[in-house]
Amino acid sequence: CLHLKRLEIYGFKSFADRTEIVFERGITGVVGPNGSGKSNVADAVRWVLGEQSARTLRGTRMEDIIFNGTEKRKKLSMAEVTLVFDNVDGSLDMPYSELSVTRRIYRSGESEYLINGNSRRLKDVVALFQDTGIGKEGYSIIGQGRIGDILTPKSEERRVIFEEAAGVVKYKTRKEEAERK
Ligand code: ATP
Ligand code: MG
Repeated sequence: CLHLKRLEIYGFKSFADRTEIVFERGITGVVGPNGSGKSNVADAVRWVLGEQSARTLRGTRMEDIIFNGTEKRKKLSMAEVTLVFDNVDGSLDMPYSELSVTRRIYRSGESEYLINGNSRRLKDVVALFQDTGIGKEGYSIIGQGRIGDILTPKSEERRVIFEEAAGVVKYKTRKEEAERK
């Protein structure tokens, strides 16, 4: 299955220093005292995958995710997060054995996505992860409140989650796009 090898964070929330988190295969636990940045790690992953809602990232405006300074340290003007996936088995539909996805945002409001260092659109990032279960709406990041959707008696909400897991969303999206033309 698709393996997230590495997470690189700079200027995102509490991560003022360039930080690299390496994930071995298997289970990784993130531990630390309250307020030490554990949830910020999950927010960083969600953000690179294209999260557009500042509220989902526990802020008010998207700018709130940029390191905002402390008594000893001045605030930063940019946040950048990179995810590096092992793609030896071709889980992601791109001819590279390793794939990196980067998102940047500047206080000026500009933002950009890169795949293996090349500028891409949000749409490309979303398409890359569609049906892998990894997208921001994927079942691999289960946010607070999401458990309820899985357990919900409402079949529509449950269906969306299982469709993503089954890997059929990309066909539905293509069909919808074709029908709109
Ligand atoms: P808990 O165990 O309580 O869930 P946690 O380890 O999950 O804690 P986080 O919620 O990840 O903690 O981190 C919260 C910290 O991140 C707070 O100290 C907050 O000040 C800091 N933080 C959030 N946004 C920014 C920002 N833009 N700039 C600097 N620090 C930030
Ligand atoms: Mg937390």
